[in-house]
Amino acid sequence: MNHSLKPWNTFGIDRHARQVVHAENAIQLLNVWQQATSENLPVLILGEGSNVLFLEDYSGVVLINRLKGIEVSELPDAWLLHVGAGENWHSLVKYTLEKGMPGLENLALIPGCTGSSPIQNIGAYGVELQRVCAYVDCIELSTGLQKRLSAEECRFGYRDSIFKHEYQDRYVIVAVGLKLAKAWHPVLSYGDLTRLDPQTVTPQQVFDAVCHMRITKLPDPKVNGNAGSFFKNPVINSTAAEKLLAAFPSAPHYPQADGSVKLAAGWLIDQCQLKGARVGGAMVHRHQALVLINEDNATSDDVVALARYVRQQVGEKFDVWLEPEVRFIGAQGEVNAVEVIA
Ligand code: NAP
Repeated sequence: MNHSLKPWNTFGIDRHARQVVHAENAIQLLNVWQQATSENLPVLILGEGSNVLFLEDYSGVVLINRLKGIEVSELPDAWLLHVGAGENWHSLVKYTLEKGMPGLENLALIPGCTGSSPIQNIGAYGVELQRVCAYVDCIELSTGLQKRLSAEECRFGYRDSIFKHEYQDRYVIVAVGLKLAKAWHPVLSYGDLTRLDPQTVTPQQVFDAVCHMRITKLPDPKVNGNAGSFFKNPVINSTAAEKLLAAFPSAPHYPQADGSVKLAAGWLIDQCQLKGARVGGAMVHRHQALVLINEDNATSDDVVALARYVRQQVGEKFDVWLEPEVRFIGAQGEVNAVEVIA
């Protein structure tokens, strides 16, 4: 257990793994997986570790997916990009804008790798990956067989996909296909973007505005470790929403197509006066209550205790029980994060 995981999780939690190995192509990746499996060791495949919390030392092999490459082809109405899983997401967003292929600008500055983007169907400022995803290429680890899943087959949902369910552990994502329409339609429904003029706005202006919002509100993981939004925005049924809104009329709420109502987890946490709340070295970020940060050498126990406290406070005040968006990793692999903080 002498391989530090600190560089491999943006939370900056100081846990260790038996081994950390990089893979630059699919063959290396499969070899490492097969070797570890033959020794009965668990394998955790990571991009940049931007959505994980290591609860304990990891007893197996952490495999860093560094499959690179961007290929662009042109269709009459769109650009089709085939992107290696290990390409950094934000660099890809910048590359597409520089090459005059807009469509990803709302997703600027999301930490992590392209290959991780379908797993939780990354989303920000009104755009989710599923809007641009054409396909995901993955390899079945036990057989080495490659498979292409259409966007529909990925079963994208709110921060969800097949890769968190049936395909978890059994498959590794090796590339993502993105289709960027040549007819650009800006999405300006969120935050400062609503102030931009849809008639004259450029993709670069949207990109700049998104970067500005993120830089001013969200902590830089290089300064204060974090994994972005710690909790999912809760989605509740219409009856529960009516009750909550009768008691708290100013609660931000967003009706969904299926009749349910999405609430803003950050607002709920803020209403409990929890910005700046601390347990050990972990703290609720002062500018954005949805983000828990590693303020001062936090341990994973500190983060878990703080998350439990936040969940309890919000639950007691609103009868809404938050669920982590961050994935919790135990000694053998992922564990149920809700059970850990319940
Ligand atoms: P915000 O603007 O303070 O809004 C709070 C929440 O209300 C957001 O999470 C968003 O839900 C929802 N919301 C705001 N305007 C909305 C609209 N016009 N229609 C529907 N829902 C709306 O949010 P923020 O924390 O600064 O984040 C801004 C965006 O970046 C959000 O889309 C957020 O999800 C995304 N983000 C994601 C992460 C992550 O780790 N996953 C981290 C930071 C930011 P949605 O989350 O459904 O968009």
